[in-house]
Amino acid sequence: MTERPASGSLQVPGRLRAPQPGWTAQADVIVVGSGIAGLTTALRLRQRVDRVLLVTKTVLSEGSTLWAQGGIAAALDPADSPEEHLHDTLVAGVGICDVEAVRALVTEGPRRVRELVALGAEFDTDEDGEIKLTREGGHHRDRIAHAGGDATGREISRALIAALHRVQDDPGIEVVEHALVVDLLLDATGRTCGVTLHVIGEGQRDGVGAARARAVVLATGGLGQVYAATTNPSVATGDGLAAALRAGAEVSDVEFVQFHPTVLWLGPASRGQQPLISEAVRGEGAFLVDRDGVRFMQGRHPLADLAPRDVVSRAIVERMRETGEDHVYLDARHLGREFLEKRFPSIVERCRELGLDPAVDLLPVAPAQHYASGGVRTDLRGRTSVEGLYACGEVSCTGVHGANRLASNSLLEGLVFANRIADDIAERLAADELPPVPPGQAGRPPGARALLAEAARTRVQAAMTAGAGAVRTAESLAATAADLAALAVRSLDDGAAEPGPQSWETTNLLHVGQLLTHLAASREETRGGHVRDDFRELDDAWRGNQRAVRGPAGLVTTTFHPVPEQDLT
Ligand SMILES: Cc1cc2nc3c(=O)[nH]c(=O)nc-3n(C[C@H](O)[C@H](O)[C@H](O)COP(=O)(O)OP(=O)(O)OC[C@H]3O[C@@H](n4cnc5c(N)ncnc54)[C@H](O)[C@@H]3O)c2cc1C
Repeated sequence: MTERPASGSLQVPGRLRAPQPGWTAQADVIVVGSGIAGLTTALRLRQRVDRVLLVTKTVLSEGSTLWAQGGIAAALDPADSPEEHLHDTLVAGVGICDVEAVRALVTEGPRRVRELVALGAEFDTDEDGEIKLTREGGHHRDRIAHAGGDATGREISRALIAALHRVQDDPGIEVVEHALVVDLLLDATGRTCGVTLHVIGEGQRDGVGAARARAVVLATGGLGQVYAATTNPSVATGDGLAAALRAGAEVSDVEFVQFHPTVLWLGPASRGQQPLISEAVRGEGAFLVDRDGVRFMQGRHPLADLAPRDVVSRAIVERMRETGEDHVYLDARHLGREFLEKRFPSIVERCRELGLDPAVDLLPVAPAQHYASGGVRTDLRGRTSVEGLYACGEVSCTGVHGANRLASNSLLEGLVFANRIADDIAERLAADELPPVPPGQAGRPPGARALLAEAARTRVQAAMTAGAGAVRTAESLAATAADLAALAVRSLDDGAAEPGPQSWETTNLLHVGQLLTHLAASREETRGGHVRDDFRELDDAWRGNQRAVRGPAGLVTTTFHPVPEQDLT
């Protein structure tokens, strides 16, 4: 481990400005978020722990899980093997994955997918009733299980929520919707002992309260809304990552952001969640062309249009620069109307709503933010550096993605690590390793309080998109950092900011944006989801992970952790 002072210094406040908690609640474990990670953790914990409290920002189904199209990767085909899945994952991660974490993912993955089937998830099957498998970018085997053609996330979410409803009368589990976690509660030793949360409810539990527990699992998903255009839904505001950072948890690899190459381009003014054209469409034979109909991925990578996403995104950005256009095109016309409607019903329907017919029209596409490869750093059991705090799913950094996530590995990560986390917590509670904290000793992290008015959200997004997006330079990152720093100063004394969900989310976007920009500025190379126009090559000196942690006085310290060379041939 080496200390590398990141460019400039970053100061992050200890908590968000919020009213004093007006009510309290208690559980053994609090799970925050109801995507694949949170639902799986809660369902498994409930079998083994007395009181589980699942809280979620809006309704149970909202989150990226619902939107996942392509599928879930697992070596289910007898001709495939976890070892091959491991190799493809390491290659996509460009040399800085945690091999043991990937091994856990790929070896436990097939079993966890079968358990999901046993729970009620209906994957697409062939005439013999076997799960149909397709291929996506970066995979050398057909190993993507899908449901409803291109509605995999919807089916997984449906099955998990149905399973939750089957046990919801059980006193061992409580579910609270419209409950936004604001910050973590810590005891005097720095251990996590609960959360502060804002509930839009009725009766006693309304407004800001404090929920105490022996362990907290953050499963709050991604951070896509930090950019102007993303495939992520509106709840993906990086709340869990920001809260963990403020509470002093170690975060890692946050500079690695996956930009999905084929997001429908709806014009220069479109903002927020944009429609994704799944990689599986290219898996089935669609290809990219520029405005002159030239196939520019051929000869650029052995996998051509199915090269890893960073390679395809970069190629698109470069071709857009060369042609002066702000998009390229995806050609799926030769796949035929019948096939497209059967295999990709949701995509075809969405395109038609927007006046495009994939069987007839070239589809305008451009890269947009899609996935956060880094997050709150965990070990193989999902434990973070803060005692009692766990992170699962997209908010976490288990090490399985390295510099870039392999397509369809993220649903799998949520599934595999949720089980690991639930087992670890259950064992520790049984061994009395995580004793309850008395009410008077649960406090909020020390340091300044911040709040930024909702009106600043578009400025954060514009700054991030302009300077810390798909292609970055020292200059662009410095401009973004300066813009965000001015907002950070304002957030410490923003008279216009009223505490509430919008301003808390906006402040979380600011903190996540500052962290991401800070780490991206230090990494002077191009690797995976971190593309620098001023350092265009891989640099072996950077083969490792950047970790950041906020100290008690608010200063964020960055350390660099080299990774031994991996065989990526
Ligand atoms: C369009 C799209 C397509 C994708 N396709 C695929 C695919 O084919 N295969 C694949 O593997 N991956 C895919 N992904 C990525 C994958 O869907 C996500 O990484 C994964 O679903 C994340 O699951 P999660 O449980 O961690 O988070 P989410 O499913 O995003 O759930 C997060 C939950 O946390 C809640 N939450 C957030 N903040 C708070 C807060 N402050 N308080 C309380 N609750 C909070 C949210 O409301 C939500 O319930 C896709 C993503 C998108 C957006």
